[in-house]
Amino acid sequence: MSDNNELFVFNEEEQKVDNLNKKIIKILTVEDDINYQNALTNSLKEIKIDNGYEIEIHTANSVPQAALVLSLHADIALTFIDVVMEEDDSGLRLISTIREVIGNSEMRIVLLTGQPGFAPEQHIMKSLDIDEYWNKSDVSVGKLQSIVKSNLRTWQYISQISSARKGLQLVLDASRSINSKHDIRSFSKAVLEEISNILNITDGGGIMCSSGEINKEALISTANGCFDGFEGKLIEQEILSADIYDDFELATAEKRHVFSKHHTVFYFQTTELDKKSYLTIVKSDNAICEQNEYLLKVFSENVNTGFANMALLNKLTELAYTDISLNLHNRNWLTREIRNMNLHEQYQTKLIVFEVEQFEEKAFTFGHDFCQKLLKEVYNNIKGAFAHTTPRIAIINKSSFGLIVSTDSNMPQEIITGLNRQMCEVEMVRQYADIRILELALSSVLNFSPEKIISLAESSLSDSNTISLKYIEHNHLKTQELTKRYSLMAKLRKAIGSGSLQVALQPKMDLRNFTPIGFEALARWQLKDGSFVSPEIFIELAETAGLISELDSAIFDKILVIIQQLKGEGVNLPIAFNASAYDLANPKYFEYISKKLREINLDPSMLELEITETQAISNYELIRESLERFMALGIKVGIDDFGTGYSSISHITKIPANVLKIDRCFIGDIEDNPDNQYILEMIVKLAKRFDFSIIIEGIETVEQCNWAKKLGCNVAQGYFFSKPLFINELILWLKQYEQP
Ligand code: C2E
Ligand code: MG
Ligand code: MG
Repeated sequence: MSDNNELFVFNEEEQKVDNLNKKIIKILTVEDDINYQNALTNSLKEIKIDNGYEIEIHTANSVPQAALVLSLHADIALTFIDVVMEEDDSGLRLISTIREVIGNSEMRIVLLTGQPGFAPEQHIMKSLDIDEYWNKSDVSVGKLQSIVKSNLRTWQYISQISSARKGLQLVLDASRSINSKHDIRSFSKAVLEEISNILNITDGGGIMCSSGEINKEALISTANGCFDGFEGKLIEQEILSADIYDDFELATAEKRHVFSKHHTVFYFQTTELDKKSYLTIVKSDNAICEQNEYLLKVFSENVNTGFANMALLNKLTELAYTDISLNLHNRNWLTREIRNMNLHEQYQTKLIVFEVEQFEEKAFTFGHDFCQKLLKEVYNNIKGAFAHTTPRIAIINKSSFGLIVSTDSNMPQEIITGLNRQMCEVEMVRQYADIRILELALSSVLNFSPEKIISLAESSLSDSNTISLKYIEHNHLKTQELTKRYSLMAKLRKAIGSGSLQVALQPKMDLRNFTPIGFEALARWQLKDGSFVSPEIFIELAETAGLISELDSAIFDKILVIIQQLKGEGVNLPIAFNASAYDLANPKYFEYISKKLREINLDPSMLELEITETQAISNYELIRESLERFMALGIKVGIDDFGTGYSSISHITKIPANVLKIDRCFIGDIEDNPDNQYILEMIVKLAKRFDFSIIIEGIETVEQCNWAKKLGCNVAQGYFFSKPLFINELILWLKQYEQP
């Protein structure tokens, strides 16, 4: 190629002249004077151009003939046109058609005329992009040669820029198309399709295959065209022809792309990310020209980036489904496995949850690392027990595993027993890991989301009714029960949010003169159908759902209103409210209440706080400070349901409190139960000794009332005096109450 063509980046380096396959450049002459036409063609035939191209000459003697040739050869590089043919301006009209109708702006046009007076005006030359204008008589052989050479050079230059632009547009579109694919299958498919587009392959096809660092065999993931049907097979000589197979081996060995005339093997690797390499083999029956090879190289850069991005994405996805410290599948993974099951699979699968008991204590005693190793041991034992069934196991929270297996794989009793108590050896220390097991058939929870299924299994395991069982089979009834519970929980959340919980008040009576000395506020929840849900149920629900603080604050706000209402009625008596250990463990609870008191300037002695003995004892460290602050403020603290928490009086003296409310279980059968009579007597004596005041709960009869008095109890609560009443009822009761 001549120096002038240095700009032709595409062809410059790699253009090889193939003598058998000469490159052709086309010239057309349009001339109605046959003699001149012959002379011109003969001269053109003599012209040699030096970059391996051969001139192919086409002729036309009229505008219609010219139109026919042009329609058959869109790639004519240079056209000589006689101005005057059938008409004076035939030549100009033909040029206007070429430029404006056909839209060919690349073809070089040289206008010839026999009559100097017929020269077109300058602006026409410009607007029709006529490159040169010559009098036929001035065109010598030498001149013709220079006209041809310079115009052909210009044409090559322009057409190469134009095809480069088209090619780059193709690569750009192709890259855009593959960048939108985020899974390896659709990405590979898109890459093969786009390569076919770039090469304009009509006969041929492509293969995408991958191999790992350990398993070096190349597995075909996607195939199209002549390779259709090879997906899932390994690359073998029989699939590829010998020359392609050789280049495939070369690309693999030298880790590089290999280009050939009728095929290309691309080599991509994402070794750092996933220890994988990808090979793309493209076969094209029409030769891959230099320009297309260049485009493929540019495109392959994008493909490489695409593979790297995908490997990165896969890595991130993998991390999302892995418990990093144990290098095991995690809860997300198990959720996905269940989600991916079809209905048929769900019917045939069960979820088994294994929970390591007292894991927290073990972690505290032996440390985190030890427990991680212990978990790994437990994992291996579970896996071993189910080895015959290809188990799918994940660690679903810090101390439990979830396993999905076929419903056919029954666990014989000895396996269950073996898994319930596992001997694990960690760091030379022998340890028993006690495991609770729950089985749940996925067919019993078909409409549940995977997240809900796993939580259901967990809540079934932690259900207080089953806590002593080592092996639980979750059945359909249990699901219904838990579903009901979930729906009630949702309703409770709504009721608290909308302020629709109510307060009932039960009088506390002075047994010496049978007058009310205060009230206990009790939360009430009425459903839309008019029925009431027992506090025993909804308080526990609120505690489980983390709603108890909200509930207690809402009730407390209502109590403050009630105090004002009673004050309006001339009743200035304290009201006791029930608090949960969750409230008291949070310093904000005390701040909330004391702030409210300040706001309405209420005397703290108008309030009393009750906490159950069980909660007070088991959360002693967490709530002690809060209770002390309430007492210091002047709010009395009562230990509710006393006697049910199995704590001794000496134990109870540690808790900052003023009042013991003796549980109604002692008074219920007091007349016939000498043990309870004795216990009550002791409690009352000791309580007095330690300066606690006493309230007896659950007085229903006059006899029980007399017993309470006899035991030295001055304050009591119970249906005998009044059931808990809403404020309006209470106001009436207070007005009508007559001492017995
Ligand atoms: P509690 O604080 O020990 O309340 C006394 C319970 O005994 C009340 O049950 C009351 O209706 C019932 N009761 C009173 N006198 C008699 C009687 O003579 N015979 C019988 N059989 N029962 C009697 P209730 O209202 O069902 O409340 C149950 C528990 O729910 C309460 O026990 C309390 O621990 C808790 N609770 C109620 N309201 C709230 C609240 O607003 N917040 C919190 N955290 N807990 C609450
Ligand atoms: Mg109470
Ligand atoms: Mg009580």
